[in-house]
Amino acid sequence: MEKLIFRFNNQGSQSSFNSKNVLGGKGANLVQMAKLGLPVPPGFTISTKACEYFYKGSKRIPKKIVTESKKEIKIIEKITKKKFGDYQNPLLVSVRSGARVSMPGMMDTILNLGLNDKTVIALKNKTSNGRFAKDSYRRFIQMYSTVVLGIKSYFFEELIENYKLTKGVIQDTELEEDDWDGLIENFKEVIKEKTKKKFPQDINEQLWGAIKAVFLSWNSKRAKIYRKINHIPDHWGTAVNVQAMVFGNMGNDCATGVAFTRNPSTGKKELFGEYLINAQGEDVVAGTRTPKNLLSMNKSMPKIFQQLKKIFKQLENKYKDMQDIEFTIENNKLWMLQTRSGKRTAKAAIKIAVDMVKEKLISNKEAILRVNPNTLDTLLHPALDEKAEKKIIASGLPASPGAASGKVTFSADEAERLKEQMQDTILVRIETSPEDINGMHAAKGILTARGGMTSHAAVVARGMGKPCVSGSSEIKIDYENKLFKSDDHEIKEGDVITIDGGSGKVMLGKVPTVKPDISEDFSKIMSWADQYRKLKVRTNSETPADTKIARDFGAEGIGLCRTEHMFFDEKRIISVRQMILSKTLDDRKEALAKLLPYQRNDFIEIFKIMNGLPVTVRLLDPPLHEFLPKTDKDIDDVAKELNMSHNDIKSRIIELHEQNPMLGHRGCRLGISFPEIYQMQCEAIFEALAECKKKKIKLVMPEIMIPLVSTAAEIQILRNLVDKTAEEIQKKHSIKIKYHVGTMIELPRAAIRAKDIAKYADFFSFGTNDLTQTTFGISRDDSGKFLNDYVENKIFNKDPFVSIDERGVGELIKIAAERGRLEKKSLKLGICGEHGGDPASIEFCEKAKLNYVSCSPYRVPIARLSAAQAYLKKKK
Ligand code: ADP
Ligand code: MG
Ligand code: MG
Repeated sequence: MEKLIFRFNNQGSQSSFNSKNVLGGKGANLVQMAKLGLPVPPGFTISTKACEYFYKGSKRIPKKIVTESKKEIKIIEKITKKKFGDYQNPLLVSVRSGARVSMPGMMDTILNLGLNDKTVIALKNKTSNGRFAKDSYRRFIQMYSTVVLGIKSYFFEELIENYKLTKGVIQDTELEEDDWDGLIENFKEVIKEKTKKKFPQDINEQLWGAIKAVFLSWNSKRAKIYRKINHIPDHWGTAVNVQAMVFGNMGNDCATGVAFTRNPSTGKKELFGEYLINAQGEDVVAGTRTPKNLLSMNKSMPKIFQQLKKIFKQLENKYKDMQDIEFTIENNKLWMLQTRSGKRTAKAAIKIAVDMVKEKLISNKEAILRVNPNTLDTLLHPALDEKAEKKIIASGLPASPGAASGKVTFSADEAERLKEQMQDTILVRIETSPEDINGMHAAKGILTARGGMTSHAAVVARGMGKPCVSGSSEIKIDYENKLFKSDDHEIKEGDVITIDGGSGKVMLGKVPTVKPDISEDFSKIMSWADQYRKLKVRTNSETPADTKIARDFGAEGIGLCRTEHMFFDEKRIISVRQMILSKTLDDRKEALAKLLPYQRNDFIEIFKIMNGLPVTVRLLDPPLHEFLPKTDKDIDDVAKELNMSHNDIKSRIIELHEQNPMLGHRGCRLGISFPEIYQMQCEAIFEALAECKKKKIKLVMPEIMIPLVSTAAEIQILRNLVDKTAEEIQKKHSIKIKYHVGTMIELPRAAIRAKDIAKYADFFSFGTNDLTQTTFGISRDDSGKFLNDYVENKIFNKDPFVSIDERGVGELIKIAAERGRLEKKSLKLGICGEHGGDPASIEFCEKAKLNYVSCSPYRVPIARLSAAQAYLKKKK
């Protein structure tokens, strides 16, 4: 069997092996810090491989681990001059989990292991601090009981709370040694009652129990959910770190804290953190006591403050990234317990990346790879309208920026339930814990009454890019009656509130939002991205407003302009209906003639904004019945306006009804049946161009796209129609116009027959929404009923409508690209549809050598950055 145990401090003959895959993130970074000469309490890591063996071997700790761990404990004893289980000078250890990638708070850690009724007395005598010894013991009993023995923590918390009430104190720190003695006895009774066994006094039993529990925590419900949300493979497993304890709870020259080397919310280069004097472990993040700002340590512990500042710099130089660290101070000595790359907001990610290039810590290529494209969403989406009226009902800490409105809900389950009904919610909790993770995911924003800037809610929300206001002590939450109070306001479950995670304000009702302003750093990252990317980025847009937004975000053309959206306008829908209800060709032509000027003007507007860039216009795609009235009242209105009878319209609706509209009379099939419709649309396009030419507007490159083609004959016929119309208009205005004709590839047959089709096409645009539907034979509108089961059962890794299914749909794209280019070398290739804005799908497009992606306006910057990352990753 390979080596399964690794020591942090590289003393003796141990290799300085260091890999996150084997040691987990926490272990690998502890080794690193020790190597840098930083003060790290001694200890060792049991590798992730051991976790694998544990699960393979019917969940028993492998023998080899037991013998080697014993040896390592001996080494720790030597370094600390303490002994595990000793009655004079006992060694205590922490048993900490640590996966390859950080899963904050997802798995379990046990502190103060090695305490029992006898060693606790030794600890008391040695430190002459009975309160400290008993406090440590009760913490250990609590943690061990919840993590290893599976007893709910509230049994213990309830005992403490009730005891404090009778004693008339508020803080845990006000309890004395005798108080803890009594509580420890009560704890033991609970354990006896729940497990029918005594709390284990054998320290070795404690150790193996804890190690096993850490392994088991890898498969806890919350860890599984976290992995699912973050796409972390189930087979990775967790490492276990066993480390000598240091104590932040021995008195007022002790403390425990967490810090970031830069501000994780804004990215500013400044000390950022929180600490608590005379406290241990999770006290800071648990939000039970409100911690102090790290900056105040400059007064309370100036020497340590300076030392910390120096360490921050050392760590940043080593990791070349912002670090999230955990430390403890024991009798004025600093100990480093953890470092890792810190989670940050999109805004901070960009600022830190750009600053680090300026500081020559990283290159601009690395900077590009540092920003998660998906998180840009939070920056690009609207912020609160300054001018809007706001009724502020409370304030808290600005824990994660962005504005969100929604219905108040008090439980994670309720937030999830409402999300399924497409309702926006704000999750309001006293404090959050890892059990709330799915609710936080489902909610639009999070509001907590307790907890600081590094509380669970704050860290998780920043990671998710969700607005969060934490520690709003003004709000009093009443879970039982499902309401919270703030001043004179009473907000009930279901009432709408707005939170602004940038300012920490909580407001009544839905506050309107405005376009955000884009920072200089953002433009810098984008310009670097543009420097490297090969894929062009276009937008899907059919209104002047959207087209303008997309241009401002850097769109290099329109990849999909859906003309049917232009038909739904109030003023024109009646002509559209008249056209559909016409009984003769002449009547239809008359109706179409009324539509033409509207379409022409739409195109002129869009062509102006696109100023010389390519614009792909898709000819009418949906089946005609989609435009007809649905209710009896609407039918009556239309009947009146068109001077027809109700029954006439009704029978036409019945005539046009389709069993399966997705596969019905739509796309190019309409063009074949009613060529006059496509002809009108082409006339509108070419006349718009003629008009632009007259007005000396730079001419766009029109790309006329014929949807739902599956055979070469279809496009041959329809291309003829386009060419003929173009010729007529050119003659009429005696001008020359350049244009392209192409097709969407959205049916498997089209992909396979791409060579024939390319004879008549200048470009292919992969309509990956329909191509995914038709390849899987899954209708997107109905897939909601079973997609979850498919993801759950690992049939699908990811929803194929979100990220391209590379092995199926992707293969068809590759086939079409290859066969198409075989026929026509100059064939231009792109994709439109939801996938065009999805980073994973964009990476695929880069590999498949497409020319461009097209996505919704707000995703244009995401696509630009993703395209650069895809290129840089491919080159690596
Ligand atoms: P998580 O992965 O949830 O952050 P950790 O293993 O980092 O869990 O442990 C949580 C906290 O317990 C740490 O932040 C630290 O304050 C405390 N802790 C862990 N190990 C030790 C130790 N050896 N001495 C003192 N405190 C410790
Ligand atoms: Mg933790
Ligand atoms: Mg930690």
